[in-house]
Amino acid sequence: MKIGIVGAGMVGSSAGYALAMMGGVSEIVLVDRNDALARAQAEDISHAVPFVSATLVRSGAYHDLAGARIVILAAGVSQKPGETRLELLERNAEVFRKVVEAVRNAAPDAILLIATNPVDIMTHVATKLSGLPPQRVIGSGTILDTARFRSLVGRHLGISPQSVHAYVLGEHGDSEVLAWSNARAGSIGLETFADQIGKRLDATVRQSIDDGVRNAAYRIISGKGATYYGIGAGLARIVNAIARDQRDVLSVSIVTDMVEGVTDVALSVPRVIGADGVLADLFPELDRDEQAALRKSAMLIKEATESLRL
Ligand code: ADP
Repeated sequence: MKIGIVGAGMVGSSAGYALAMMGGVSEIVLVDRNDALARAQAEDISHAVPFVSATLVRSGAYHDLAGARIVILAAGVSQKPGETRLELLERNAEVFRKVVEAVRNAAPDAILLIATNPVDIMTHVATKLSGLPPQRVIGSGTILDTARFRSLVGRHLGISPQSVHAYVLGEHGDSEVLAWSNARAGSIGLETFADQIGKRLDATVRQSIDDGVRNAAYRIISGKGATYYGIGAGLARIVNAIARDQRDVLSVSIVTDMVEGVTDVALSVPRVIGADGVLADLFPELDRDEQAALRKSAMLIKEATESLRL
């Protein structure tokens, strides 16, 4: 299967690298307005391929995306000094006006996978611009926050992150909601499991895990300037679910008819992902506080989306 990546910066190239490492796709084409960067990233990634897979990695122009089943959109501009979040958002929406049209012309059947931040709003923008059904315009959303949540809970309880079933819902950002009330270790409620093995899972522990998840990006950015390996692997995971029609349940963002009373908003809940994109949405049972927090998160995204002239 052929995969396109538009935007060969840190996130796009990390996604390309993770995809090449995971195997399972035949060709990756990197496109960037900076041709030299796309060429260099493709060449560098292609040199990692012989150690693990046989994926063809190359750079190209938009027409080289023809036949791609999935195109990752990781193109964007960074914040200028003094620029507001809304101004940045408007410039990124402008980038998407060009990019989405070019991708749709070259690869009309492709599923779009959105990575550019703020990812929920950019997913809404790409859905509107493309005219595609929401199930085929998927934002990486909280896939990474969910992975961070599972990793911290697993570490605390001494089990693998894959054995923790827990999701982060809502915005990929400050208002995200860690759904503790339905989280499981194997098939057992987290608190019961913690009791059984004599570990604490009280408000202080939860708060420190919440903080670890919510503020991870800030900590990483203060140390190394950007985050990209985690999201690169998350994007590759979504591509694999689509490419192999795996019907995995992953927390990703699409424009959703109604969440906690808020209509037409892009945010993350667990969703079934297969060859045609999102096949079903799951709305976990939440306690009252989580419901209220998810509603607040949905309203924040909705307001920010509406402030943008689409
Ligand atoms: P991130 O850390 O989010 O990956 P980068 O700045 O490293 O951010 O990467 C963003 C990439 O998007 C850059 O390589 C930039 O050249 C690319 N880009 C910006 N605007 C466009 C556009 N209109 N078309 C294609 N690529 C673009």
